[in-house]
Amino acid sequence: MGTVVQITVSHTSESEARLAINEAMSELQRSDDLMSHYKPESLVSKVNRYGASGKVQVGEGFFELLREAVSISRASNGAFDATILPISDLWGFDKGGIVPRNELIANKLAFVGYEGIDLDQSTFSVGLISSGMSLDLGAIAKGWAVDRAMEKIMSHGIRNAIIDAGGDLRLIGGRPGKGFWRIGVQHPREPGGLLATFDLRDTAIVTSGDYERFFIADGVRYHHILDPATGQPARGCQSVTVLAATAAEADACATAAFVLGPEKGLAFLRSRPGVRGFIVGADGTLHWSDEVIEGMARR
Ligand code: AMP
Ligand code: MG
Repeated sequence: MGTVVQITVSHTSESEARLAINEAMSELQRSDDLMSHYKPESLVSKVNRYGASGKVQVGEGFFELLREAVSISRASNGAFDATILPISDLWGFDKGGIVPRNELIANKLAFVGYEGIDLDQSTFSVGLISSGMSLDLGAIAKGWAVDRAMEKIMSHGIRNAIIDAGGDLRLIGGRPGKGFWRIGVQHPREPGGLLATFDLRDTAIVTSGDYERFFIADGVRYHHILDPATGQPARGCQSVTVLAATAAEADACATAAFVLGPEKGLAFLRSRPGVRGFIVGADGTLHWSDEVIEGMARR
């Protein structure tokens, strides 16, 4: 997943804790093997290759992920769109980056649209309505993988743990003697600096930021969170942090709100039960979805 993963477990048995961590790490690896569009053998690559000529069986877990992706696409009016790959490929953020010509973007935008994901619940299979379409689960897959890894941890009877996959966090219980985990949220413009800290338990917290993957050309920052309406990097925010019950939901919602910008992004977050968060606008101003977020201490 191109990130450093840290797992912390508190448990009465060290050997059980180590076993659980190893299984969780394997689960993360397995998820990446399924969902990475960079890996030719992944399930996503299979759908991208064959999805337009017939439905590909993907199994129940992966099907559920796609269903959640489509549902969040709908709820965000397409701000989140898992069919963004033709556009994200053009920008090549993982290879140094290049500003694509406008007509190239316009050509590829014709193949972006979550409505073209064809889900068949009865066989857990998925198709794409046209060749040229392809899936990029980069905005939800990390969160989803973290959720699966936390299920492994919990299956060992562990009740206090934290999984941090480079800004995608899921936590259960708390630190021994404290009852919560202290979480710092990265400042979007101060490398290594914190924007806020939270004392949290039993939640997921995920941040999307324009500082994660970007390049600068002619003094302009081009980053990896793209507006599916224009094919350009979304310009309304520096970062968005979302708290939700699962890391998959928090991950997808953070990307969606980023694309929507501070005003519509907050309205979107507030429209989802159990979802809270805050947005750093393009000018650096902070916008909170709720007056008080439990456990929060602003810097
Ligand atoms: P995140 O860091 O979770 O915000 O996800 C960003 C990644 O998701 C990018 O690297 C792209 O692979 C993909 N992506 C970019 N823009 C979008 C979008 N509007 N909707 C869904 N996925 C996107
Ligand atoms: Mg995301």
